[in-house]
Amino acid sequence: MSSIEEIKVRIDIVDLVSETVQLRRSGKNYIGFCPFHENTRTPAFVVFPESGTWRCFGQCNEGGDIFKFVMKKEGWDFKEALEHLAERAGVELRPRTPQDEHREEEHERLRALLEDAARFYQHHLFHTPDGAQALRYLQEKRNLSRETIERFGLGYAPDGWEVTKRHLLGRGYTHAELIAAGMVTQRDDGRTYDRFRNRITIPIRDARGRMAGFGARILNPDDFPKFLNSPQTELFDKSSLLYGLHLARKAIRRQEQAVIVEGYLDVIAVHQAGFENVVSPMGTALTEQHLYALKRLTRRIVLALDPDAAGDKATLRGLQVARQAMERT
Ligand SMILES: [Zn+2]
Repeated sequence: MSSIEEIKVRIDIVDLVSETVQLRRSGKNYIGFCPFHENTRTPAFVVFPESGTWRCFGQCNEGGDIFKFVMKKEGWDFKEALEHLAERAGVELRPRTPQDEHREEEHERLRALLEDAARFYQHHLFHTPDGAQALRYLQEKRNLSRETIERFGLGYAPDGWEVTKRHLLGRGYTHAELIAAGMVTQRDDGRTYDRFRNRITIPIRDARGRMAGFGARILNPDDFPKFLNSPQTELFDKSSLLYGLHLARKAIRRQEQAVIVEGYLDVIAVHQAGFENVVSPMGTALTEQHLYALKRLTRRIVLALDPDAAGDKATLRGLQVARQAMERT
């Protein structure tokens, strides 16, 4: 039996769909309201347990198996749906080497470390006097609501050389892990200090919503640089990560359009205004990898970059990369 068949055997389509759709039994099948189009009158969504398939007989006029259901629901491609359902079903997709497992465990630990750091920063934003200044900036200068600030997990990195470091060491992480996660900078003599100090922190997550690193903006106008990202790490790869993608992908699929803006705070502001199909690269330069990631969701990509000189250059560079990426389908 192939992995795909085994996953289909192990996952009950009625259980899976029931997590999203309230189903009622109708003979051999189950019926509910379609989760993929607006409807409250006629339940047009049917699940067929015998064949392990579903179909919307309403507006969508579309159907498929559990993979198609998860792809549509989450805005994922087949590979992502396969990985997700394989994990849920406890099916190994390929024999993993001990090295693979070790590496994955390490990554999981680094992600947990970054989640801890994000919570620490968030605590400082909401519950310390220094954080209050950052919170005021976000609410008054950026017009972000408390709800938005919480949704995007914004925080405040306290002003000190070892505040965050001591907190994370106290949580049981090692120096080596702090370096691998990009939370501290190592000096020539081997000693380390906090990378982010007196800055607003923006957690950066990968396409699946897992922590990858941070972007951080200055509060004191004399500090430099204005934006500081995590360094390149195993989890943080600027050339492939797109900020906001895990929140935007469903909207990108639905609206068949992706909008690229220049900065993290632009993404957040535009989301708050109700436009969710928006992402930004980590700096100004777009790469082919960014565009490939978006191209899996839509072929309509709109660049909405700042009309200053840097923005113009980035736009032109982005357009060239986009054309090349689109041609090489
Ligand atoms: Zn439908």
